[in-house]
Amino acid sequence: MAVGNESLLLAAVVLGWVLTSTLIGALVMALRLREARQRERDKDEAHAVVLERLRDNECRLRAIIESEPECVKLQAADGTVLEINPAGLALVGAERDEDIVGKKIYTVVAPEYRDHYRENMRRVFAGEAVVYEFKSITLKGHTTWMETHAVPLRDARGAIYALLGITRDITERKWGEEQARRHQTELARVARLSTMGEMATGIAHELNQPLAAIANFARGSLRRLRGGNVAPADLLQPLEEICAQAERAGEVMRHVRDFVRKRDTRMTAVDINRVVQSAARLTELECRQHHAKIMLDLVSGQPRVWADSIMIEQVICNLIRNSVEAMAEARSPVRLVALSTSRPDDDTVEIVVGDTGPGIDGALIDRVFDQFFTTKPEGVGMGLSISRSIVESHGGGLRAESAAGGGATFRFTLRAIGRTLLTNERRYSFHH
Ligand code: ADP
Repeated sequence: MAVGNESLLLAAVVLGWVLTSTLIGALVMALRLREARQRERDKDEAHAVVLERLRDNECRLRAIIESEPECVKLQAADGTVLEINPAGLALVGAERDEDIVGKKIYTVVAPEYRDHYRENMRRVFAGEAVVYEFKSITLKGHTTWMETHAVPLRDARGAIYALLGITRDITERKWGEEQARRHQTELARVARLSTMGEMATGIAHELNQPLAAIANFARGSLRRLRGGNVAPADLLQPLEEICAQAERAGEVMRHVRDFVRKRDTRMTAVDINRVVQSAARLTELECRQHHAKIMLDLVSGQPRVWADSIMIEQVICNLIRNSVEAMAEARSPVRLVALSTSRPDDDTVEIVVGDTGPGIDGALIDRVFDQFFTTKPEGVGMGLSISRSIVESHGGGLRAESAAGGGATFRFTLRAIGRTLLTNERRYSFHH
């Protein structure tokens, strides 16, 4: 019996132990499971945070790109536009993404620039960062100039999968460059016009020779005829000479006519203050060389004037140069050139160039506009004469005044254009 009781007790202890260990095991497992779940949850949370951050970053990046005032775009190697920001849409003249995304960029590249564009794309996909300019015809048909800064975009393995380009409109800069180039050409044209004075002296000289020869041969022939003993054959040679010399004179005149015919006027609605400023800039060097200073007194809000701006600029340059030369020649202690614009009445704009030089002698003041009148050893005496004819061809007048205390003043007028006509300057430009 005692043995039976002991066995029962042992069995109960073993069972208890087994149950306890099982319970403990189960508890431990449950705990581990909870921990694992917690870890999983923590990991998920961490992931979510990372994902959220990434999304935030992408949103931020997108927001930056979307609000970027310059065009930002992604392109594939064949030129297909993959993505473009709103500034880019506006730049290419697209209303919606679909107008350009998925299409080839070449649709907005001017045909003559497509090869150039293709070559630059090739360089980017070969790994280079490239800056290139091209002419664009936007989807709305406007011609613009663009500059693109392009870099290759690489995936995790380093393979280039797209071109990232930032493009800006440089039409205004190009227009400015074009204007500067034209300005140079125009200046060359006017320089040719100014050399007309020098040419006139040359022409006089050229014509003098044949005319003198004609007079000589004609006088000799007359003498022989009056002498009575002349055979007609003896007159052939001098008469032939007369013809040849007359033809030579005709040739000189033809040259002059060709030269003058090339001179054409380009009238536009001109802001006179800008022309005066430009003339002041152009003569800056001479002023500095002769220690003279230019003072500007330009009334703002001037109406525009109909003028060939380059010619008027040339007139003002001429007057400034004359003042500077007169003051340097007279060794004037104060050397100022005062340039001013004003509006004496509704239809007129007046430009005045005054100086602190020696002035002009009262007896000579009416002669300074005469052709070839000069008091300078190297002078040609055509500057004021040409200036006056330029101003008169614009319907204005050029006058000289000389103050008692010294100093000369030249003033000229140009016709003002009514404000209403000025909504679009270029529309009213014309050439003739
Ligand atoms: P050039 O400069 O070749 O002499 P212009 O026709 O320009 O020819 O000038 C004619 C003359 O008018 C000058 O030689 C000079 O005697 C006089 N003149 C022009 N401008 C001035 C001035 N600002 N002050 C004094 N004299 C002047």
